[in-house]
Order: sequence, then C-alpha cells, then structure tokens
Amino acid sequence: MPYRRLTDGPVSLCGLIGNPVSQSISPQIHNAAFKTKHIQYVYLSFKVEPKDLATAVHGLKTLGVVGFNVTIPHKVTIIAALDMLEGDAIQASAVNTVVVRKKRLVGFNTDVEGFLSPLKRRHVNLKGSHSVVLGSGGAARACILGLTRASARKISVVARNTDKAENILSVLPSQSRVERVVVPLKGNEVKTTIKDADILVNATPVGMDPRQEISVVDCDVILSNQVVYDLVYKPIKTLLLKRAESAGAIVIPGYEMLVDQAAASFKIWTGLDAPRKTMIDQAISSLSGDNA
Ligand code: NAP
Repeated sequence: MPYRRLTDGPVSLCGLIGNPVSQSISPQIHNAAFKTKHIQYVYLSFKVEPKDLATAVHGLKTLGVVGFNVTIPHKVTIIAALDMLEGDAIQASAVNTVVVRKKRLVGFNTDVEGFLSPLKRRHVNLKGSHSVVLGSGGAARACILGLTRASARKISVVARNTDKAENILSVLPSQSRVERVVVPLKGNEVKTTIKDADILVNATPVGMDPRQEISVVDCDVILSNQVVYDLVYKPIKTLLLKRAESAGAIVIPGYEMLVDQAAASFKIWTGLDAPRKTMIDQAISSLSGDNA
C-alpha cells in the first residue's frame, strides 16, 4: 500500500527490524490500518544484521521513531539494547514490539496475546486441555506461555531437538502445575500424543510456501473433536489445516495470529484500537498475492 501524506503535519515512524524482512507483510497491514484510522503514521521495514543491532536500535531512537517490531533473529538479543520490559516480554524473555517512551526503549511481547486471541474468538476452552505444540523455537515459546495462562492441564512439545523443547518448557514458572512432556519428533509416541490432544499447534515452518505439500506430522491421526492451529500463514490454508478440516476439526490459520499480534502492537504505538477488519482484509489480500 503506497504511503500518502494526509496533512503537512509531522509523520510518525514505526517499523520492523530483522533479517530477512523483505517477505514480511507487516508494512502492508500497518499502513492499511494507519490509513483507515486517518493518522499520519508510516511503517517501514529495515534489514538489520545481528552485528549491527545495537547501532540500528540507537539510530532509530535518535531519529525519533514511535516504535518498531522485532523479528528473527533479534527477538531475544534485542533485550540487551532496551531500557525495560513490560507485560509478557518479562516472562517470555523475548520482545517483538518496542515503543519509545520519554526517550526510553520499552520492550513488549504481543505474540502471546496474538496467539490466544483467535482461540478466544472461537470460544475454545483451553482450561484443563491437553495441548500439543510442534516445534521448540521462539513461536512455540509464546504458545506455551499462552496455553499455560489459559490453564492448560498438560502441554506436550513434539520436537526434533528435545533439549530445546525441555528448555522452552522451563520458561514456565516453577509453581505452575501444568504437566510438561517432551516427545521426540521421530519417536513412536508422536501418534498417540496427537490422538490424545485437544488442541494441536504447528509452531514449525514446515508446510510454508513454497513447500506447501508437506506437514511436520502425519495428518491422518487428526480427529474431528480437535482444534488444529497452524502458525504458518503462507499459504493461508496449509496441508495440515486442509487435512484437519477434512477430518472435521476446528482449524485456525496463522494469519489470524499475525494480525492479532500486529493489532496489539498498533495499540501500544498509537493508543488506539486497531481496525482489525482492515488488517485481516489486507493480510489475506497480501498473502493471496493481490498486492504483496
Ligand atoms: P524458530 O525459532 O526458527 O523455530 C522453528 C522451530 O521449528 C524449531 O523448533 C525447529 O527445530 C523446528 N523446525 C524447523 N524445520 C523443521 C523441520 N523440517 N522438521 C521439524 N521441525 C522443524 O522459528 P519461530 O519464530 O518459532 O517460527 C516458527 C514458525 O511460526 C514460522 O513458520 C513462522 O513464520 C511462524 N510464526 C508465525 C507467527 C504468526 O503470527 N502467525 C508468529 C511467529 C512465528 P530445530 O530447533 O531443531 O531447528
């Protein structure tokens, strides 16, 4: 979406830092939202190498940006460059949103809220559930925090790297009563674990465009009484979701989390409720290639 000035007044700058950033549709989503709200903000993306992170963050602050999103590979390392953390960023030890407040850099994590919102919208009751998370990276960590907050009874992490899976489960507070299980991706227990799940979350990039024909687990084990949530957002409907839908399961596509975490960032930067419908429409349009 091309940027157009609304008035001669000042322009507020937001953005994204990461590497790579060229494939990100966050600029389209946020710029569409700013336009709908008639506010003179602009969102740009900046490719930043790990060695340049501190300099880039200092530069953004000096230039007077309102705030910025942070993506791979900087979500954890950015913390050293910030003045303080708020909300979920403290427990997640990962930041995806920064706001500049009184010349101080404040880090937030909107991935946890972004993950939970599509479940809440569908009235999925996670309390007492067995939730199975595929993958043990940054996104899996946000899911685990969200599932714990929603009072899951048991969380199984299915991962090819079981040490990393143990490690992300250790972000949970020691007093948390949630049962934690690590299941090796290549092991025999994967099928029985998935069959026993109330909710299955794919937090790996498997199935992402252009390798759309694959799924990280055997889709034949999915049952009609399950909720299947794929964090992959391109394609809009992954093989896992198509097969889950055929099995009669409730399916949640990853672009909803993408929009919900963006909507939470929007609110932090502008103080306004985000125009979610505009953001959803823009995400679908960008991901479908209409104006990506
Ligand atoms: P990450 O930190 O790189 O973690 C990726 C995880 O997937 C790791 O556990 C990795 O295992 C595992 N993995 C990668 N390839 C695999 C394969 N072929 N087979 C089995 N496991 C594999 O990435 P992330 O930030 O967590 O993101 C994961 C996915 O979620 C990406 O597709 C990302 O685009 C998506 N995501 C979506 C949203 C959203 O808003 N919808 C938000 C965040 C992320 P190893 O540790 O063994 O490498």
